[in-house]
Amino acid sequence: MSDKSIFKRIIDKEIPADIVYEDDQCLAFNDISPQAPTHVLVIPKKEIVSLAHVQDEDGPLIAHLFLVVKKLAFELGLGSGFRTIINSGADGGQTVDHLHIHLMGGRSLTWPPG
Ligand code: AMP
Repeated sequence: MSDKSIFKRIIDKEIPADIVYEDDQCLAFNDISPQAPTHVLVIPKKEIVSLAHVQDEDGPLIAHLFLVVKKLAFELGLGSGFRTIINSGADGGQTVDHLHIHLMGGRSLTWPPG
């Protein structure tokens, strides 16, 4: 049994995912359990457990992830609005221990989250 996270296994192409974008630093794929018509996860290829584990040296990578999120939002037709979420730690609702940004849209999202 591999001790890699499920997302690391997707990065390594050991298991399939519906990939919508990839470059040398990151990968974006459709969430397997979408909570909106568009629900994409953007992840760094570097193994970072969560936002709480980001180091100062990761600054350019984190900036890159957000620029990719913005680019994808427009490419996926979310110009009228979208939501980004990063769950961190057990009490933050994080279920996969590899940093990921949720990009959601395609319907009118409500607040508090819904
Ligand atoms: P979080 O709860 O913030 O850690 O989000 C983890 C997300 O990963 C959830 O929205 C899951 O639906 C999604 N997920 C888990 N396994 C997979 C997978 N194999 N492919 C795509 N999305 C996944």
